[in-house]
Amino acid sequence: MRDTKVMSSQVDLTVRSVAGLELTRRALDLIEQHKIWPTPLNIELFSHFAADPKSELSLEIQTLLDSGDPFTDHTGLRLAVNHLPEARLAEHIRTTGSFLLKELEYVSQAINRAQDSNDNYSDVLTDTSDNLSKAPEGPVVKQLVETLAVATQQARSETESLEKRLNESVSEVKRLQENLETLRRLVDTDALTKLANRKAFDEEIQQACAQAETSGQDLSVALIDIDHFKLFNDKWGHQTGDQVIRFVASTLKQFSPPPRLAARYGGEEFSIVFPNEGAAKAEAIVNDLREEIANRKLRRRSSNDELGAITVSAGLAQRKRGETPESLIERADKALYASKHAGRNKVTNAEGPVAKKPAPRPASKKS
Ligand code: GH3
Ligand code: MG
Ligand code: MG
Repeated sequence: MRDTKVMSSQVDLTVRSVAGLELTRRALDLIEQHKIWPTPLNIELFSHFAADPKSELSLEIQTLLDSGDPFTDHTGLRLAVNHLPEARLAEHIRTTGSFLLKELEYVSQAINRAQDSNDNYSDVLTDTSDNLSKAPEGPVVKQLVETLAVATQQARSETESLEKRLNESVSEVKRLQENLETLRRLVDTDALTKLANRKAFDEEIQQACAQAETSGQDLSVALIDIDHFKLFNDKWGHQTGDQVIRFVASTLKQFSPPPRLAARYGGEEFSIVFPNEGAAKAEAIVNDLREEIANRKLRRRSSNDELGAITVSAGLAQRKRGETPESLIERADKALYASKHAGRNKVTNAEGPVAKKPAPRPASKKS
């Protein structure tokens, strides 16, 4: 696979050198020219664009600009997840998080100020009412009423401006939350298949193991690998290969409704976590999806050529009490190897062959 992150890291060095200032200027010009929000992330993306117009990131930005589609926050985040070095992404998440905290801090300060202003107003009311009862002559009453009118007007205008600022804060917090949510989703998603990626799988399996240990419930994991995929790519090309990877991913997704989790484990390798399901159940599911894939007649999108049968091999294991995620995955991987050695298009259960259900007995004849 092409390592775009390494390429972006090289660009990153340029962006962070003295030339970076000039790049930022050019980035800002481009941003202005294309009427894009000058957010820190967009400035960073366009600095890369200015630094190396031939990089994958730049080509993608150019395609987007040519398409005339709006360059939204989501667009920027997606580009960042796919192309920026991970450390920069983490920094962006932190920045968004700290903007969110600042906004919330502002709201809390504004509420305190509103409290103070209400206290003041109520003091004025109490004083005025005391003075009214003590000095009931005409001019004094007039003056007191005027004081009251001024205080009321002041309190009203403060409330109005506070309300306006609070509404602004609420929309800003909502926007930042949506950005964080999008980022979180993008960071956990594989760009080609839209399945969970390796990072999300690693986190899920850690969590699922901890939960199974506490609850004593079953947990199984399957590794699934496309057979002879190198040959397939050699024959049909990488793009058609990608089409097949997407097809296998969508089949996996279909067989893995929550709480199961299907993920792209690596290139043409996938995994499924089966919380609360034993190896026999997981084996039946994986066998069904293996058959579904093998029976599907795929055609090449560009030429409609028949691609022949695509098959996958799988290995699965059920977690033993106290077993680490690493050991569980290793056993599933060994089982996958066994499937490959046994001729592919097979599922191997690390826990041994599942006992076949006894055939139903013929109904005994009533005499
Ligand atoms: P086996 O049946 O033993 O798994 O054989 P294989 O050819 O599938 O296994 P091998 O590990 O030798 O090759 C995996 C191939 O998967 C090599 C690589 O070109 C291809 N591949 C990995 N990632 C991608 C991808 O994202 N897109 C495409 N099109 N091919 C990929
Ligand atoms: Mg393979
Ligand atoms: Mg492989």
